[in-house]
Amino acid sequence: MESLFAQSVEDLNGMRHFTRSELAILRSVDKAAEEMAVGEFEHYIRHEVNLDAIDIAKRHGLLGIPIKKEYGGAGASQLVTALSKERLGQLGLGLSSFFNVQVFLGGMSLQHWGDNRQKSKYLKPAAQGKLILAFGLTEPEAGSDPDSMRSTYEKKGDRFILNGTKYLITNGSLADRVIVFAKSKANRSETSAFIVDTKSTGFNAIRLKEKIGLLTSDTAMLELKGVEVEDTDVLGGIGNGMKVALSGLMNGRLGVASGCIGIIEGCLNAVVTRSKERIQHGKPIGKHQLIQRHIAEIRQNLEMARWPTYFAAITKDEYEKDITDKRRIREADNRISIAKKIASRLAFESADRAVQIFGGFGYSLLSPVGALFLDSRVTRIYEGTDEIQELKIASYALGEGFEAFR
Ligand SMILES: Cc1cc2nc3c(=O)[nH]c(=O)nc-3n(C[C@H](O)[C@H](O)[C@H](O)COP(=O)(O)OP(=O)(O)OC[C@H]3O[C@@H](n4cnc5c(N)ncnc54)[C@H](O)[C@@H]3O)c2cc1C
Repeated sequence: MESLFAQSVEDLNGMRHFTRSELAILRSVDKAAEEMAVGEFEHYIRHEVNLDAIDIAKRHGLLGIPIKKEYGGAGASQLVTALSKERLGQLGLGLSSFFNVQVFLGGMSLQHWGDNRQKSKYLKPAAQGKLILAFGLTEPEAGSDPDSMRSTYEKKGDRFILNGTKYLITNGSLADRVIVFAKSKANRSETSAFIVDTKSTGFNAIRLKEKIGLLTSDTAMLELKGVEVEDTDVLGGIGNGMKVALSGLMNGRLGVASGCIGIIEGCLNAVVTRSKERIQHGKPIGKHQLIQRHIAEIRQNLEMARWPTYFAAITKDEYEKDITDKRRIREADNRISIAKKIASRLAFESADRAVQIFGGFGYSLLSPVGALFLDSRVTRIYEGTDEIQELKIASYALGEGFEAFR
């Protein structure tokens, strides 16, 4: 295993004793990541979505890690899933973002909210990578405030008709099914989630290529013009859309935090090698104290990102044992927000320091840190911005009645 990741597994194994099958999953993730690394780098330089990596992920069973065995997954804990995401994050966040949506936002939302038919029709193939998922909440005019969304649905017989636009949707033009959120045309206070077939008449996806990072990830704008959805494809029941969205985002944020640990590890691996090899002023730059300070900061960042994230994953595992426990869910949500806020800032800062250590070469996509720098920026925005996490963390600390928004 890649040494920094192996260290994480060893540290946690010492405390919690992973089962043999969990350790086998982590070894398999490590092997998959090794297989993906070269292709991911080549696709990044070409600014291409990396479909080969999806095939490797399928082959190693990565897309069903936290999904229950009865639905074709491995039934692993949140902690094991977070560690898997950490390993993928070392390669940048293109694959990681695919994984986040397929597994955390898509698969886990279906597992939590789907009925038996939906689980066997959508979750099972998704866990095996035979069905690609996306999560369509954000709109051009509704991001941090999803409740202001304009997409609508209306009932016609045994179907719902959906209209609207979804913006910045990861996997949007690859997906077979998108979980789309919309408001009732008759009653704006009612939001529902629908499992939409992307082959439906009136559904159109446009890939958004003009991004400053995540160059191997598919991001799309989705147009829904009179798209028909059968009433059996409402996820979580009519009127429960915001609950589905918020629980999906909570899962997704844990995934973002874990991916950020991987970014910091990727930076540390790269700068340690570079600092021993690059000679300036007659000695390896790693012998200059100001370079050592950057390395020390990145190493500390890794430690500071790891533990709140593992703690959040462990809290989430406790909640998964009894999903009716409201106190535990609020606690998990709070710890996940803290982890996401801390880890994403530290990943961005670490990648900035790594580029600095690499000097001019660091500014090139051909260096091992260019993609990490570009990809780290979005972690402070997607699945809830820094500011939104701060408001959530503060309102939890202040208690009821102090929510800055609803
Ligand atoms: C690459 C990428 C992939 C994405 N993938 C998906 C996806 O798969 N599915 C999906 O649904 N969405 C996705 N998103 C959208 C993402 O979740 C939103 O961009 C994010 O929630 C922020 O919304 P916004 O961009 O509309 O910013 P805005 O909400 O317009 O925010 C602008 C600024 O105002 C601040 N702000 C907003 N409200 C407040 C407040 N009350 N107090 C203080 N400050 C505030 C924000 O923090 C931010 O700094 C993706 C985004 C990107 C960039």
